[in-house]
Amino acid sequence: MKPAAFDYVRAESVAHAAEVLAGAGGDGKVIAGGQSLMPMVNFRLVKPSVLVDINAIAGLDRVELDGSRLRIGALVRHFTTARDSVIARHAPIVTEAMKHVAHLTVRNRGTFCGSVCHADPAAEMPMMTVLLDGQIHAVSARGPRIVPISEFFAGSLVTSLEPDEVVTAIDLATTPRDTGYGFHEFARRHGDYALAAVAVLMRLEDGKARDIRIAVMGVGEMPSRVPTAEEVIEGNELSEPMIMRAVESLRAAISPNSDLNASADYRRHLAGALAGRAIRDAWSRAREAVLP
Ligand SMILES: Cc1cc2nc3c(=O)[nH]c(=O)nc-3n(C[C@H](O)[C@H](O)[C@H](O)COP(=O)(O)OP(=O)(O)OC[C@H]3O[C@@H](n4cnc5c(N)ncnc54)[C@H](O)[C@@H]3O)c2cc1C
Repeated sequence: MKPAAFDYVRAESVAHAAEVLAGAGGDGKVIAGGQSLMPMVNFRLVKPSVLVDINAIAGLDRVELDGSRLRIGALVRHFTTARDSVIARHAPIVTEAMKHVAHLTVRNRGTFCGSVCHADPAAEMPMMTVLLDGQIHAVSARGPRIVPISEFFAGSLVTSLEPDEVVTAIDLATTPRDTGYGFHEFARRHGDYALAAVAVLMRLEDGKARDIRIAVMGVGEMPSRVPTAEEVIEGNELSEPMIMRAVESLRAAISPNSDLNASADYRRHLAGALAGRAIRDAWSRAREAVLP
């Protein structure tokens, strides 16, 4: 397929990108890695009047630690996210989840922020942004704004980003060193989008689970936390029966769709099995972290 005709602008700065988007009357599109956008443009699923290329804007390719937040610039590629030592130290679950993202060629171009903006319900980095209370830094001709992740996703491939806004960075909460993590997903082939995935964080205090976070993806219109499953575990000593109660609670809380790849029942069963594994991994890593 060939795309419909569009103009192309290589933005020199964030302000320039915002200016071009403002002039496009809602029909402009930012292009970062192009790994999701270009297939959609080629299939004419989107027909932008202008593509605003942000790849030449200086300073957007940095990962920075700012107090207890990690700031990931709009041109940080998946390849960098997977190997960055600051991310590995302060948010190791992101490094773990990155192992499941696509293939080398896609990782060389695809960006963390582009993945979150694309909002695929089965993509790993949107889920990490939910798990780690992400904030989206957006700029338009009207000025900058910060959108909490709880207000960002509006459905499958839909966000609350305005068409004239460019995302400059996403920041994530760091996890304390004594946090255990677990991430499990199932895809038919390595690098494919997942049928389901579950991510878990927890600390242990006096043998009891604290600050537990459980997030799921691939089993709904967007990635989400599962508070009912978290409540089963929070403040308690873990045991196998308790993990199974959390698993059942998670299965009851999700509403997966049936599609060509899997039925809703299969996805619900799968998410539970993955949750059990992720909870056990997080528990085991949290125990190791408090060993004398
Ligand atoms: C074969 C293949 C396999 C893949 N497998 C996986 C996988 O297993 N897991 C996974 O998570 N992803 C997968 N992907 C998607 C990949 O991770 C993409 O790179 C990513 O989803 C989008 O990042 P990008 O930088 O390429 O964004 P682009 O394609 O450039 O843009 C995607 C969307 O986000 C918008 N956008 C991008 N950056 C900005 C910005 N700074 N401000 C405002 N809007 C912006 C664009 O306008 C567009 O709407 C796969 C892709 C391919 C082609």
